[in-house]
Amino acid sequence: VSRFEGITMAPPDPILGVSEAFKADTHGNKLNLGVGAYRTEELQPYVLDVVKKVESLMLERGDNKEYLPIEGLAAFNKATAELLFGANNPVIKQQRVATIQGLSGTGSLRLAAALIERYFPGAKVLISSPTWGNHKNIFNDARVPWSEYRYYDPKTVGLDFEGMISDIKAAPEGSFVLLHGCAHNPTGIDPTPEQWEKIADVIQEKNHIPFFDVAYQGFASGSLDADAASVRLFAARGLELLVAQSYSKNLGLYAERIGAINVVCTSADAATRVKSQLKRLARPMYSNPPVHGARIVANIVGDPALFNEWKAEMEMMAGRIKNVRQKLYDSLCVKDKSGKDWSFILKQIGMFSFTGLSKVQSDNMTDKWHVYMTKDGRISLAGLSLAKCEYLADAIIDSFH
Ligand code: PLP
Repeated sequence: VSRFEGITMAPPDPILGVSEAFKADTHGNKLNLGVGAYRTEELQPYVLDVVKKVESLMLERGDNKEYLPIEGLAAFNKATAELLFGANNPVIKQQRVATIQGLSGTGSLRLAAALIERYFPGAKVLISSPTWGNHKNIFNDARVPWSEYRYYDPKTVGLDFEGMISDIKAAPEGSFVLLHGCAHNPTGIDPTPEQWEKIADVIQEKNHIPFFDVAYQGFASGSLDADAASVRLFAARGLELLVAQSYSKNLGLYAERIGAINVVCTSADAATRVKSQLKRLARPMYSNPPVHGARIVANIVGDPALFNEWKAEMEMMAGRIKNVRQKLYDSLCVKDKSGKDWSFILKQIGMFSFTGLSKVQSDNMTDKWHVYMTKDGRISLAGLSLAKCEYLADAIIDSFH
């Protein structure tokens, strides 16, 4: 008898499990709108040309495979903080940002969670309802208490701004408020610039600490600067804040696990101390991070021509998603005779559309139409082609009625 008899079967991951079910389906029209990964119009995975180019340069140069320092590649850490805040931001000039390379967005969030658990015992993290499914796992496993603030209003398929503000106000002083920097996952609904200001007001009032998750910088609007506006607005107020970054989507480096955690402090001295503790947390977890993705980012950002190529490809990817968003909306309007208002689809931004389909309706999408998606009604538009928009519109209309 196994010593592991007491270990029960874990449930499949609600997001990554969708891809496994998709693979097992043999239907010709099957469509995987589950995982948030960019696909070409031919629905194939995409490696950016600028990435291939810089990888061949790296191979030619014969870079070695020595360990990185615990905090990661220095050139990457510099580049990533500058991309986020802008190179001339006072927080950078005054060396008030503690940046260390993390294992992509997830690993960077996990490090921040470990920092909170160790140095802010009992402090709560407020997360949006709904949010990316893994946020809850990350804080649970780090033993950081969390609760939800209202975010999505099913009546308007829009932002429940009043609910959000009052829940942030009602939270204990000094809570961490997890915010999606842009392209909120799963809803695709972002606050307006005026709403961001009000959110910053209450956070400041309540002495909360903003904690940004930036997984889509440049991928939402096509512009790195526009997508970082929320974070920069908070930094400009002189607030201390945490920002996790990921290069999975905007540079297509999903499997390279490249990202960072940044902690903006009110003094350079505090930043130095925070950085030393982040390293101390990282060392027993994974010792030091992988080098390949870090070199890709640093080399691209460090070379003006390559940097411009990246921006052009990012705009192309964001543009393709906007095109399928428009085509899906048009198809729904033409085909649907019920008079339902579909304009929420166009108001959403980024890789996802939150359709408002219930669990039962989402099941119908999969069981009858072979459209794979998460059961919260989220579809990844990055996995959709122009050619498949009409088929998807038929599936959505059928599932709603
Ligand atoms: N945060 C959000 C909101 C995300 O949507 C994702 C990816 O889907 C991540 C973080 C982290 O992704 P990764 O760990 O691949 O960088």
